[in-house]
Amino acid sequence: MNAPKKIAILGSTGSIGTQALDVIREQKDLLQVEVLTAHSNADLLIKQALEFKPNHVVIVDEGQYAKVKGALSKEDIKVFTGSKSIQDLMEITSADTVLTAMVGYSGLLPTIKAIENKKRIALANKETLVVAGALITELCNQHQVEIIPVDSEHSAIFQCLVGEDLTAIEHIILTASGGPFRGRKRDELSAVTKAQALKHPNWSMGAKITIDSATLMNKGLEVIEAKWLFGLQPEQIKTVVHPQSIIHSMVQFKDSSMKAQMGLPDMKLPIHYAFFYPERKSTSLPRMSFEQINQLTFEQPDIETFRNLALAYEALNKGGNMACILNAANEVAVEAFLHDKIGFLEIAELNEKCMQQVTFIPNPTLSDYIETDKETRSKAIELVNG
Ligand code: NDP
Ligand code: MG
Repeated sequence: MNAPKKIAILGSTGSIGTQALDVIREQKDLLQVEVLTAHSNADLLIKQALEFKPNHVVIVDEGQYAKVKGALSKEDIKVFTGSKSIQDLMEITSADTVLTAMVGYSGLLPTIKAIENKKRIALANKETLVVAGALITELCNQHQVEIIPVDSEHSAIFQCLVGEDLTAIEHIILTASGGPFRGRKRDELSAVTKAQALKHPNWSMGAKITIDSATLMNKGLEVIEAKWLFGLQPEQIKTVVHPQSIIHSMVQFKDSSMKAQMGLPDMKLPIHYAFFYPERKSTSLPRMSFEQINQLTFEQPDIETFRNLALAYEALNKGGNMACILNAANEVAVEAFLHDKIGFLEIAELNEKCMQQVTFIPNPTLSDYIETDKETRSKAIELVNG
């Protein structure tokens, strides 16, 4: 038997992280955990470390370090703290695959370090490609590193493209569930609450991506993510609302053939696929049955109401650091919405204002991206408090 694949999970206590550990639990002989990291959920991190026995764990929150260190003192596990230590670990871990399941901009620098150290990237953290897609793509080429997407739509496209020539793509179609407010108009959305926005019809996910799904920002971020993963032009990336979330996305080829990848909505499949690609292994995941699914429907997204999707295309067309601005503004806006500081419709308004007001840089370097993220956050916070 082959040696097990060695996996680092960045963000192991989150929605993707815990589902990745479910996948690993089912494939214990084939997958081995090397690294687990969390921001502040010490109790779950300790429990995971005791079960999966990684070589290294990181608890970013320094206030939780003593607790984690104490609880794992009898184990052969090194414990680190501080966000920089996730980057440093990428230099020393023997993991061959890094699952980036942290949320937001926090994924960028660890992913860069992982690429520089030639780790295969199983990418859940789409924000990394949104913020700095050009730079990440260049680094992957330079270090000959593959990114295998975990986002369900991109995993679907990736699966449709196995054995295909990328130049045969006419366009791709990302499917969107439409979120909890599908069909509503602006006047019906001004007073929606965070509890309503956090109720996603088909997927159970972390808070940030659940709000992004409700505003269609998530689909916008995915359009940008697709550009970099598959080397497409903005006009080659289309979206369609498909409320059942059974078709995970599609590719239209230039000979008129269209491929779709389907299945029940369950993130464990794309996670499993990314770990084992190019192989397919058996899983116990539930199978889709056409006796239970009697219709698949499609409609056009309403980008007048859900402005964020239009803003993502604007950012993509503008290039430079514009998507980085959009991402940072959106992270602040979502946080503010979750703390009842702004209303639902103000999320897109704030994003748009930041895109107009923050310094545009056509050919950003890494330090420009870092600076843009900072500048945008302070502008966005000013707008929230204004
Ligand atoms: P969660 O909020 O559930 O989990 C985030 C994880 O990252 C947790 O382990 C959290 O630790 C950790 N974390 C949070 N902030 C920081 C930080 N500043 N530094 C280091 N670690 C941090 O998110 P999800 O699992 O939902 O999403 C993770 C990523 O995957 C996102 O980029 C999302 O867009 C993407 N994704 C998620 C999908 C899903 O179904 N959930 C589907 C497709 C993509 P702690 O628990 O201690 O706070
Ligand atoms: Mg997705």
